[in-house]
Amino acid sequence: MSTDLLSSARKVMVIVAHPDDAEIQCGGTVARLARQGAAVSYVLCTSGNRGASEPAMTSERLTALREAEQRTAAARRGVSDMTFWRHDDGDLAYAAQPLRRELTGLIRQQRPDVIITHDPFAGLGRYEVCYLHPDHRAAGQAAFEAAFFCAGGSLFYPDQIAAGLAPHRVAALYLVMSDAPDSCVDIGDTFAVKVAAIQAHHSQWGKQPDLEGFFRRMAEQSGARWGVPLAEAFRLMQ
Ligand SMILES: [Zn+2]
Repeated sequence: MSTDLLSSARKVMVIVAHPDDAEIQCGGTVARLARQGAAVSYVLCTSGNRGASEPAMTSERLTALREAEQRTAAARRGVSDMTFWRHDDGDLAYAAQPLRRELTGLIRQQRPDVIITHDPFAGLGRYEVCYLHPDHRAAGQAAFEAAFFCAGGSLFYPDQIAAGLAPHRVAALYLVMSDAPDSCVDIGDTFAVKVAAIQAHHSQWGKQPDLEGFFRRMAEQSGARWGVPLAEAFRLMQ
């Protein structure tokens, strides 16, 4: 099974572009991992500081609001270790270099077995906005480079090594929002927790009339190929 490395991981790092990405894409899986005793940490590349249309909202207030929502959502699934890098929402591709460096340092420090992140290669053959969100691709690309090229090589960012961090090799990436998923995790037992966690992102999902039904259909679609009633789908990269 290509989810074996994920289900047996003791340390999992989730690297996403925005608050709510992790809950939507892998909330049920994270809840399941946390129940099994795995240590799960979150890395938020942006705090979604431009994700509002109310004229009175400011970027600073939105950052504070969405980080608070993210902490509540994560706590509902047993996750408390969170890093907010606070790059500007929508501009992540232009922060590629500092982001890769930050992620490399954090991977060397936290030493995860596996990383869950966005699929940076999704949607390239056709135009689908949800796949091609520039921040999703940028977060996935930086995570992919940091995990597979930089963190394990001592000549990348030698100042981090000189400061006491050792190189670290991640066993696998599990990519979400992929248009070529190759495995799924059964979230039947944790679906309710996933929905409760998404509800914590009130600024983004508060107006959705049927949140439970919306995400139930998404989970049904994700599992259909494997005959799993409610699932989250991943693409394994090793
Ligand atoms: Zn997002």
